[in-house]
Amino acid sequence: RARDPHQPEFMQAVHEVMSSLWPFLERNPQYAEQALLERLVEPERVIQFRVTWVDDQGKVHVNRGFRIQHSSAIGPFKGGMRFHPSVNLSILKFLAFEQTFKNALTTLPMGGGKGGCDFDPKGKSDAEVMRFCQALMFELYRHLGPDTDVPAGDIGVGAREVGYMTGMMKKLSNSASSVFTGKGLTFGGSLIRPEATGYGTVYFAEEMLKHTQQSLEGLKVSVSGSGNVAQYAIEKCMHMGARVVTVSDSQGCVVDPAGFTPEKLAVLCRIKNTDRGRVEDYAKELKLQYEPGKRPWHVPVDVALPCATQNELDLEDALTLIRNGVRCVAEGANMPTRIEAARAFIEAGVLYAPGKASNAGGVAVSGLEMSQNAQRLCWTREEVDAKLHAIMRDIHENCVRHASKGKVVNYLDGANIAGFVKVADAMLQQGIY
Ligand code: NDP
Repeated sequence: RARDPHQPEFMQAVHEVMSSLWPFLERNPQYAEQALLERLVEPERVIQFRVTWVDDQGKVHVNRGFRIQHSSAIGPFKGGMRFHPSVNLSILKFLAFEQTFKNALTTLPMGGGKGGCDFDPKGKSDAEVMRFCQALMFELYRHLGPDTDVPAGDIGVGAREVGYMTGMMKKLSNSASSVFTGKGLTFGGSLIRPEATGYGTVYFAEEMLKHTQQSLEGLKVSVSGSGNVAQYAIEKCMHMGARVVTVSDSQGCVVDPAGFTPEKLAVLCRIKNTDRGRVEDYAKELKLQYEPGKRPWHVPVDVALPCATQNELDLEDALTLIRNGVRCVAEGANMPTRIEAARAFIEAGVLYAPGKASNAGGVAVSGLEMSQNAQRLCWTREEVDAKLHAIMRDIHENCVRHASKGKVVNYLDGANIAGFVKVADAMLQQGIY
């Protein structure tokens, strides 16, 4: 705390992991040796740099870029890039710290990292976004490599941005090595990568329900956010026979008691991905109820899937959801639930999965994209989806194995301990460096 007094999100993430680990460390003191915890909360490397770019009017802008190379204990640094005005060192350090445990849970050999910039892609032309991405890569390229650090997308970074960054990476490095995942299908991308985080979150929720002899079929679901993760979570919920009744963005939420249909989802995707509009436009076009400034947690549902951003579900929201009979909460976003809210769910007997377990499908398929690139092969949609499904089942089992037993499986402890044990064992075996 004394070292990082201005990093509340990073402190929050460390605190959450440590509160799960403490009782485990008391039973397994070998994991408290060799300053293992002190090493784990200190990123291996933090890179901060200036990004200078020119807008369509010829005006010069300066943004601040970062890459956090948190841990390479089990493989190359791996984690997305986020473009959002709120990006700062605290948020990226929290994300890189979480990513380290999440990647360990995927069963694939990937270390943890994260990066981003306080650039806002909203309202920018394609040409401006391209020039910005290229300017960012002028600096970042020297820190990346297929066996060093492999970024991907995150908030504000989708296929368009990954494409521009990959193009400039190739030019600067004179190499076609794949150092981004989430690439377009024509230049090394994997089928199912865009769908993976949303689909994986729903697969995980289904596993949690199955473990208690329930199923998603016929259940009412609230989803927050309306970006990549939210869109594919909605699609998979529909496939599984659930009814999704909400969607949101940073300005407000839409409540639709009749639930999403494939036709409605197509309209949402067009508005968000092509027109780069807001959920308010979606509500207007389909004449649905729009609640400005609101989040969706007041709507009574069986399952809640927070898929927008960190700290979007607080204690009051959790108590409302519990009062309204929620049975299962699976995080599509990273740390969307405040720790007090997560504890309230667990104490009330609600099945609660932290993002590092339930949203690990995205990075898992990124790992599969790296494998395909290394082999210069492309697997079919069915192959990748089957592997994703199997990985989500493995993560679920691993969490259950390490979870403390209470009213319900404590997935928070299970995920934190399972991820920690893998990273810690790798660190102990590789000596002190
Ligand atoms: P997108 O940029 O595609 O969508 C983000 C969504 O969250 C938008 O609806 C956005 O609304 C909303 N949002 C962003 N900031 C805020 C805020 N401060 N308050 C309320 N809503 C907000 O991002 P993704 O869908 O890719 O990512 C969503 C979450 O999932 C993030 O936490 C990300 O870290 C996590 N994640 C993503 C993975 C992936 O593969 N994409 C993998 C694992 C985790 P608006 O348009 O108004 O900004």
